[in-house]
Amino acid sequence: MRRLLATALLPYAQLRNTLSPGLRVLMYHRVAHLAAYDQLTVSPARFAQQMQELSSHKVVSLEDGLRAIQAGPLRKPLFAVTFDDGYLDNLTEALPILQRYRIPATIFVTTQFCDQALSHPRYGSQPTERLHLNWDEVIALARSPGITIGSHTRTHPYLPTISDALAQQEIATSRSEIAAHLQQPVQYFCYPSGDLSPRELQLVRQAGYAAAVSVAPGVNRRDADLFQLKRTEITDRDDVSQFRLKIAGAFDPIHRLLHARRTRRFAQKHLKPSASFEATTL
Ligand SMILES: [Zn+2]
Repeated sequence: MRRLLATALLPYAQLRNTLSPGLRVLMYHRVAHLAAYDQLTVSPARFAQQMQELSSHKVVSLEDGLRAIQAGPLRKPLFAVTFDDGYLDNLTEALPILQRYRIPATIFVTTQFCDQALSHPRYGSQPTERLHLNWDEVIALARSPGITIGSHTRTHPYLPTISDALAQQEIATSRSEIAAHLQQPVQYFCYPSGDLSPRELQLVRQAGYAAAVSVAPGVNRRDADLFQLKRTEITDRDDVSQFRLKIAGAFDPIHRLLHARRTRRFAQKHLKPSASFEATTL
């Protein structure tokens, strides 16, 4: 149903891409073979198909893409690739495919996942195999051509629900921890689950990041908020024809509606009534 609707919307999306091209940031998490479908995991074969298709477009690092949209109107659409959470498979499965197609990427790591002190709860508290990159691997990735490391906090919390002091630590301390391991500054931040409030925007700016990515769908043009960059989620269900529709932006109107509903639900659950929110922030 969504695919049919997106197909109908394609001419409109193509016209917008021609008249006003932007930077589309693709969002990935894992690249792995899993027995069951997982929305955050793309199989290596599917990922290779998607990267082959993407390589027929102009794919840039986040840094080059942001510089290009700020410099003036683009002549054609640009694409950037990102990965959240710092999974080991980003190194073992995704990197060789990215290298094959010469595609740059930004990997957002959670520092306590790299410490192997915590792991993403989605895959169980004690996964049978190591799930996340360790620091040696993060350093190796940072040295690979085209790979940028960004921060995805220390413990992957729902940022808007924690205290000011903790939020500050999650955002600023993660940046300094990663910088200490890599011996280079960290420019980009990624909000866990994409959830943020005005406080997080302010903390991310204060911590010295150059930009931050959200999960709001769409494309980034010159007027983009650099601290709430939009992204396009790619899944294993995106075969070549659906991937083409997605990267053309034909799904954007549908995804905007779904995202607005999700954001409303999150606010109702976590940010109201204000009394309980304040209680948790003390
Ligand atoms: Zn995450």
